[in-house]
Amino acid sequence: MAQQVLLKDQLRKLIELQKIDKEIYEFRRELEEKPAYLEEIKNHYEDKKATLHNWEEKLKKTVLDRKSLELELKTREDEITKANTQLSALKTNKEYTAKISEIEHIKADQSIIEEKILMSFEDSDQVNARITGEKKVLAEEEKKYFSEKKEIDDSIKILEDRVKVLQSQRSRIAPEVDKTILNLYERILENRGGSAIVPVTGTTCGGCFMNITQQAINEIRMNEKLVSCEMCTCILYLEDNL
Ligand SMILES: [Zn+2]
Repeated sequence: MAQQVLLKDQLRKLIELQKIDKEIYEFRRELEEKPAYLEEIKNHYEDKKATLHNWEEKLKKTVLDRKSLELELKTREDEITKANTQLSALKTNKEYTAKISEIEHIKADQSIIEEKILMSFEDSDQVNARITGEKKVLAEEEKKYFSEKKEIDDSIKILEDRVKVLQSQRSRIAPEVDKTILNLYERILENRGGSAIVPVTGTTCGGCFMNITQQAINEIRMNEKLVSCEMCTCILYLEDNL
């Protein structure tokens, strides 16, 4: 009789522990998920930053390319000036015609370069418009990221505090459980990710929902030893037998 009372008492303590441990495991799972989620929204924000950076680089390149086109144009102008001064010094018609044709050639080149410069201005306008848009998007993303980050950091803090409270509750109950029983309980708890002792409802295990044999149910009722589910290894109890 004394042993039966003792075992019942141990089961009750385990059930109390289980309530606490279930919460601890749930909070820990939440705590594990949060940094990953934060990482995800951070990556999203970094992507937007990179997009803006790419457009800014594109603008820089367009401006640089245009500068070199403008230099090229200047070179052509100098060439034309030089060719024009050479014209008056030429002796033969042939030389004169050749020089004129050379000047025409340079002028044709100039037109092409001028065309490219105009297109480059159009490109700059488009890229600038894009940059303005991306800056707006980034500002929104930044706001969103920092506000979500704060929310997540705050909830992590709260969860950590709750786990601390639960752990202190746990440390008051755990020493009242027999060492061997506690070790068994904790081993199952770890293997099963937070559940180690479950009720039998009707003839169904509360851990894996498989059928429990009548013999096992009888053994639980006798309160002589701990009975575990053969399928999921959880310690079993009957609500009306405590
Ligand atoms: Zn089971």
